[in-house]
Amino acid sequence: MRGTSVLAGLTAILLISGTAVSQQPPAGGRGGRGGGGRGTPIQPGETCPPGTTEIRPRSCMAPEAPAPSIVDYRPHSTLIAPTHLVKTAKFPAIDFHGHAQGLLSSAEGLASLGASLDSINVRLMVSADNMSGDRLKNTLTAIRASDKMKDRVRVLAGVSFRDVGPGWAAKAIAQLDADVAAGAVGVGEIGKGFGLSTRKPDGSRLSIDDPELDPIWDECARLGLPVFIHTADPEEFFKPIDYTNERWLELSLFPDRRYPQDRFPSFDQLMKERDNLFRKHPRTTFVAAHMGWHASDLGRLGKMLDEMPNLYTEVGAVLYDIGRQPRLAHDFFIKYQDRILFGKDSFQPEEYPYYWRVFETRDDYFDYYRPYHAFWKLYGIDLPDDVLKKVYFGNALRITKALPQQGWPK
Ligand SMILES: [Zn+2]
Repeated sequence: MRGTSVLAGLTAILLISGTAVSQQPPAGGRGGRGGGGRGTPIQPGETCPPGTTEIRPRSCMAPEAPAPSIVDYRPHSTLIAPTHLVKTAKFPAIDFHGHAQGLLSSAEGLASLGASLDSINVRLMVSADNMSGDRLKNTLTAIRASDKMKDRVRVLAGVSFRDVGPGWAAKAIAQLDADVAAGAVGVGEIGKGFGLSTRKPDGSRLSIDDPELDPIWDECARLGLPVFIHTADPEEFFKPIDYTNERWLELSLFPDRRYPQDRFPSFDQLMKERDNLFRKHPRTTFVAAHMGWHASDLGRLGKMLDEMPNLYTEVGAVLYDIGRQPRLAHDFFIKYQDRILFGKDSFQPEEYPYYWRVFETRDDYFDYYRPYHAFWKLYGIDLPDDVLKKVYFGNALRITKALPQQGWPK
């Protein structure tokens, strides 16, 4: 007993002296509570050495315990703040970026899709699966045969970029005309392979603004079809995978999302070609998927929307960027309320409520659904009802005349 209390007393003295040391400015990089000898000085502008963090100006220290890996560190937030979960959208929504994953080809699939859409208040899904020819016709036949779903799914047509060269455009236009006659309401989703990896017959890369393609975009304008296009991927996918890369975890989980610069065009090159395409065809309506991958630079996207009245954008899979800048994003959505469409991309019904919560509430600091996209939290951007209605359905209806136009809220 006696020995224990002597030990406890000694420990208390050591702790007190340790605290006293930590209140002194680090001397020669030494110091910090319990840091005996572990502090490392750095020069102004330098970053801390690996395994250490800046504990006082220009003094770095390593944690005493081995640091957890970023996949294992899951701190529980201690923030207590108002919480408004939004299970169903406040107004019926159109998902302009639908990938229903096989649910469109059978009555059972469509019934299951309908039940899922009801549970989140998505009234209409626009299938962006690049369907064409028989596949498109068979899908439309299944949709039309479903009493419950015949007005709740519409389909975009695909354009094949194989063998682009002399004669390609006439064939592509004939196929598009046939697909529209069969019931397609627009074009898309033109996938990210266009620009990144699609080749011409001579082996050269097919650039997004290749003049051989001009006739198909003009045909889209003539038919009044919106062109839904996904170009490139997040800019971080084109950069070295080091510990400054915001998407390190995603790139490490999914190596096929990396675009090494010795094998792929740069992000900026793809953006340049894409913007050329939009500018070259001012009568064609383009919808840039994923906010054109500029949700992390809304100033850039705003400039594009200012310059190109034929351009619209869609919010699929970039909620992590919208929700981390609630004030800027709020103002952006107000300013460009006529140009933004709701879309989700990957069809996971339980993920839609995160979008509703970001758009409809002013909640602070809440989890995103996919930790490998974003290690940060989200905030609500609190959009007014008239803007929600445009983003959820109004803008999609305006640019896609062949969508069912009746029965939407005023
Ligand atoms: Zn998609």
